[in-house]
Amino acid sequence: MLHVLQRIVQEVNDAETLEGALELIVRRVRRALAVDVCSVYLMRQPPGELVLMATEGLDPRAVGRVRMSPREGVVGLVAERAEPVNLEDAARHRRYLYFPETGEERYRGFLGVPIVQHRRVLGVLVVQQKEPRRFDDEHSAFLVTLAAQLAGPITHAELAGVPARVPIEADSGLPLEGVAGAPGVAIGTAAVAYSGRDLESVPDRPAADVEAEVAAFEAAVARVQEDLHRMKHRSEGVLPSEDRALFDAYGMIVGSEALSGRVVERIRAGQWAPAALRDTIRENAAVFEDMPDPYLRERAQDIRDLGARLLLYLEGGGGQREWPQRTVLVGENVTVGDLADIEPKRLVGVISGQGSASSHVAILARALGVPAVMGAADLPFGRLEGREVVVDGYHGRIFIDPSPQVRQEFERLIAAEAELARGLQTMRGLPAETLDGERVALYVNSGLLAEINVVFQSDADGIGLYRTEFPFIVRDRFPTEEEQVAIYRQVLEAMAPRPVTLRTLDVGGDKPLPYFPVEEENPFLGWRGIRISLDHPEIFMTQVRAMLRASEGLGNLRILLPMISAVREVDEALALIRRARMELSEEGYEIPEPRVGAMIEVPSAVYLCERLARRVDFVSIGTNDLVQYLLAVDRNNPQVAALHSSLHPAVLHALRALTQAAHRVGRKVGVCGEMASDPAGVILLLGLGVDDLSVTLAALPRVKWVVRSFTRAQCAAIVDQALDFEDPEPVRRLLCEALDRAGLGGLVRPGG
Ligand code: PEP
Ligand code: MG
Repeated sequence: MLHVLQRIVQEVNDAETLEGALELIVRRVRRALAVDVCSVYLMRQPPGELVLMATEGLDPRAVGRVRMSPREGVVGLVAERAEPVNLEDAARHRRYLYFPETGEERYRGFLGVPIVQHRRVLGVLVVQQKEPRRFDDEHSAFLVTLAAQLAGPITHAELAGVPARVPIEADSGLPLEGVAGAPGVAIGTAAVAYSGRDLESVPDRPAADVEAEVAAFEAAVARVQEDLHRMKHRSEGVLPSEDRALFDAYGMIVGSEALSGRVVERIRAGQWAPAALRDTIRENAAVFEDMPDPYLRERAQDIRDLGARLLLYLEGGGGQREWPQRTVLVGENVTVGDLADIEPKRLVGVISGQGSASSHVAILARALGVPAVMGAADLPFGRLEGREVVVDGYHGRIFIDPSPQVRQEFERLIAAEAELARGLQTMRGLPAETLDGERVALYVNSGLLAEINVVFQSDADGIGLYRTEFPFIVRDRFPTEEEQVAIYRQVLEAMAPRPVTLRTLDVGGDKPLPYFPVEEENPFLGWRGIRISLDHPEIFMTQVRAMLRASEGLGNLRILLPMISAVREVDEALALIRRARMELSEEGYEIPEPRVGAMIEVPSAVYLCERLARRVDFVSIGTNDLVQYLLAVDRNNPQVAALHSSLHPAVLHALRALTQAAHRVGRKVGVCGEMASDPAGVILLLGLGVDDLSVTLAALPRVKWVVRSFTRAQCAAIVDQALDFEDPEPVRRLLCEALDRAGLGGLVRPGG
């Protein structure tokens, strides 16, 4: 049975259309269970009817014509109850409805199971038998198991929807889910990221005219090199120069002896150019494929991408691609190169099948102010070109060919955001001060050199969290002390005298270093953040020395320690920082003493907060991880994304305990997780007595607006009310009402 189940699910996954998928299901299930009838009904919104979409056994002409409300019929009963209904003689049930189109009076035995996704009934899977019979538990278990696995593929087939034969009034309105990569919403035309033709499908053939083949290949090389050059040029001001150097490196590979030289050699030996290219790319990629290091193995893909691009030109294709006016770049694995291919003014959104919010592409999208959805793994990429898509970068959702209602809703939101942006302009230059005159420090989070100019031009009080992972991730080895000094110095110098909080390396978890593979069953509970740093003092010392050296003569450095879960970790890290400063002083540097803070993002640190705070100068709460660990909800798992809420009562109680503990020992408390960028969250943080907020650059004006619209006492009263609730939803409502009353209703994100 397991084998049959797996095969059906696999085939449904591979089906090209919803219609095909459903027909396959009914055919296979009828055979596997040896029943007279198998049918699928799907819920259509609006008007909320169950429609017969496919059947094997009933009259096929009934497809699309048999419809019922979930309050009618035994099929409706399955949907209404959202549980299996097993009837020995359906005709005798009080809910039985007779549809003459189906010839159904002949079928008495009935077993229906709901198809459910995220608590919503999408449809009903039914088997029927002529004779009265009660289906046994095996049948029921089989259908329940199958239905549970079919919900996903059905939604995707439906959204991919080549129009089905069945007339459908409107699409189901259901979005495809990924994870939020960069905030914002956009409506645009999908353009599938260039992938070129498959080199492996090139046939063998002799070269008809050797010189002509060589010339064609050399022209293709020149065009690819031009492409790379253009990409590099376009990414100026967007990517740090060290990343842009990547394009030069690719250009060199394309023109190298090992690649170009070998292709020409093969052509001269009699092979036609495409096959010569195929074999050479295979040969070059194989060198990397066998490497144990995952980062170097990845380079094999780069080689194949270059090969595909060369082939496209060889075959007379390619050239400057015409991008839609409002391009949503879509791909199984959108790369930085793909992004750089497009003129920035045409790019309105990004959707990638792979990657997370911490992928380079997501970071870049944020830097460009373009919404992105990552990890949308089940998207039917091959069939998206030219279709209209809505990218909801707040919630990680995608709508393909949105219905007029969905489209309208998002157009409204886009207009409201534009309106808001104009309103927010007025915040510039005003102090972040509550209505009762209390100044709140408002910092920004950053981690991208390319962003520093903009941060500098903003009126932020400084950088509250500089994630130092980026320069580590984009290299193929640990950056040297000098390289790090150069990067940190740029940041510290640009912002001086405003403080800059450099966080020590926080890799591991969802941020693996390509050249430092850590194989773990459970990376979020494993070797990450400060744990790696303390186990590798040579890496930590290099980083701390670089931070300290970068601050020479400036005095605006603050060092932040991530993932602290024990007092001992702070003691050890502080000892190493002291040692680094001493070493540097022996080497003749005069380094001002930095302020050092601990991040609170693990439940143990909540309980230890007072002791931790005593040892450091400040504490900074990382709500992204704190919520993840407190609520046991993976922050990157779309399946449980709705549960990752900073308004959960447990989080609020923890935040209260934290602020009180730190204040008891006279330390300032900041929040640098996403909660501080959420207007609703800001009210709570102000009410809890948080001293400073570090927010994403885009959120700076709106957070300031919130700060300037309330008194601390008003916020504290709201917190008192919020602490009485037992769920996040009423807390969210309470806060939205407060924003509304303060005239900030526009800041409330839909469903946020
Ligand atoms: C956090 O966990 O809230 C945080 C700010 O750190 P990061 O998102 O980089 O893990
Ligand atoms: Mg964190």
